[in-house]
Amino acid sequence: MKESDTSELKTRRSDANGAGIAGIVLSPVRRHHGFIGGVFSGLLSLVQGMAVTLKYFVRPSTVVTRQYPENRKTLKMYERFRSLLIMPHDPDGCHNCTACGICETACPNASISVVSRKDAAGKKVLKNYVWRMDSCTFCNACVQACPFSALSMNGYFENAVYDRRLLSYSLNRYSGPPASVLKKIEDLTERVKMMEPCLPYSGQSVFGETPVDSGG
Ligand code: SF4
Ligand code: SF4
Repeated sequence: MKESDTSELKTRRSDANGAGIAGIVLSPVRRHHGFIGGVFSGLLSLVQGMAVTLKYFVRPSTVVTRQYPENRKTLKMYERFRSLLIMPHDPDGCHNCTACGICETACPNASISVVSRKDAAGKKVLKNYVWRMDSCTFCNACVQACPFSALSMNGYFENAVYDRRLLSYSLNRYSGPPASVLKKIEDLTERVKMMEPCLPYSGQSVFGETPVDSGG
């Protein structure tokens, strides 16, 4: 490399006052090798790109890109993919949420609102578990914070709606005590009395607008 090339490069970097502009300065190596060097550099880049293509061709199971939407009925996302926050219910329709509110505290952007009420015995039970998908970042902090394994993330990925209000979900199907309490009530009629059905969406009636009592 000529001394003049080096000094020119330094001068132009200094003029740009930072590394951000340095990328547009002609590399001294490229200046030195000129056209032939550029051709070899381009060929090397092409071979590297084709090597990736060839690898996916011989090992299609390693392809990360998913086809969509023709295969929407059979498409399964990766296990670690997070989309909908759900509250799993057992075959009897019971969940584990005790309305303790730990997940609500753990959520960094207030996407969860746990609304509780008092049951017949005066104990705090879940009335409405509101989750706002439109502000959720799918960080999974709520799932990890829950001491009763009452939450999980599933991989359902078609959640687009035209009305943002439909992105506010009520995760509990019924309002009432957790499964651990309900299962102790042997009389099924009495058990059902403790379970008031909930709607799957809260619509715009979330976070204070819902006509609910916090119940302590
Ligand atoms: S995934 Fe994260 S942002 Fe979304 S509700 Fe849970 S804690 Fe909040
Ligand atoms: S989901 Fe878990 S952490 Fe959240 S209120 Fe229910 S029991 Fe508590």
